[in-house]
Amino acid sequence: MTQAVGEVWLEEPKLLALVQAMFATAGSNPHECEIVSRHLIEANLRGHDSHGIGMIPAYLGNALKGEMKLNHHPRLVLDQGNMLIFDGELGLGQTNATEVIDQAIARAQSTGSCIMALRNSHHIGRIGHWSEQCAARGMVSLHFVNVVSKPSVAPYHGLAARLGTNPVSIGIPRQDGPPVIVDFATSELAVGKIRVAYNKGVPVQPGALIDGQGEPTTNPAALFEEPYGALTSFGAHKGWALAFACEALAAALSGGKTQSGPKSRDAIINSMFSIVVSPDKMGTTDSYFSELEAFIRWVQLPPEGRDATVQLPGDPERAKRADRLKRGIPVDETTWNQLLDIGVAVGMSREAMLAIAHPHQAPLA
Ligand code: NAD
Repeated sequence: MTQAVGEVWLEEPKLLALVQAMFATAGSNPHECEIVSRHLIEANLRGHDSHGIGMIPAYLGNALKGEMKLNHHPRLVLDQGNMLIFDGELGLGQTNATEVIDQAIARAQSTGSCIMALRNSHHIGRIGHWSEQCAARGMVSLHFVNVVSKPSVAPYHGLAARLGTNPVSIGIPRQDGPPVIVDFATSELAVGKIRVAYNKGVPVQPGALIDGQGEPTTNPAALFEEPYGALTSFGAHKGWALAFACEALAAALSGGKTQSGPKSRDAIINSMFSIVVSPDKMGTTDSYFSELEAFIRWVQLPPEGRDATVQLPGDPERAKRADRLKRGIPVDETTWNQLLDIGVAVGMSREAMLAIAHPHQAPLA
């Protein structure tokens, strides 16, 4: 395993400015710079470092190789009733997904629901972001995503990596409180979390990985060094079943590509199948809100005389966000150096990047 490494701490506005400058230097227009930097930094703020700025070396590296297109708009390939299909054509995923989700919301506002597929996009990041975009407009939404990249997850009882971490997200808006956001990979851990552990030189939790012989291991190198092992799916057969459904819905049904062979290119390809529903148009808004709140009060009520805190999906991320806005965003040194290296590769100087980001060696508060 690699040696444990240190970390730097960054203030959110300065890190945002750095990421915007990096994408602008690489060629993104101001709109795209804003979308992608906000998305990646929100992932860090919410504690999902696996899907934050640590993805930039892969994104910009792929842009340099022609494996991802900047300033690209998704192409509408089907518009029929409440169904929309878009082809992302390997455009930057955050631009693709922001635009298609906007269109799905608009369709659900007029017809009550929208079944939307985005196929062949470059990586679309933290899927909860798309649930949040829907919830902010009062829409309930479900999102099933497949990943075509280097296979990283073994099927249940399989001994080798055959598929990606296929995430699922469900967004549930509330009347007065923040939305409930269900958002997870169908693997026991996300690949990015193994990368973060590998970069930090720390082991991962037991049960999440098998090694190249199919034996359990906690060494994150199993994913990054030969002989390659694999992640396991969460909840034994249940995560595998859900991951399978992601391939069927997001890729096969949407006209995209399943992970049906070894990695054939550097692009990280996501296809997403989304269902966006308007409670207003369903005519159930009143009961939806009142039943939801009644359920939340009930599940959060501890037994008489006992103390317990039951969080809702989305709560841990909001708490982490408040903390990181105050104390700063920690970035391990390996990730930080990879970020500076790709910045140099797209044409920025290290000095310019350090002057914008102004990293600290310790938390800010
Ligand atoms: P995770 O295991 O941290 O689970 C997160 C979910 O569990 C959230 O909904 C969170 O609110 C909820 N949660 C956590 N603790 C809770 C508690 N105590 N009580 C109630 N709810 C709780 O997430 P993950 O599987 O590591 O995924 C991380 C991110 O990676 C996600 O944003 C996912 O979308 C993203 N991802 C993206 C891709 C891609 O290809 N684009 C692939 C895999 C994962």
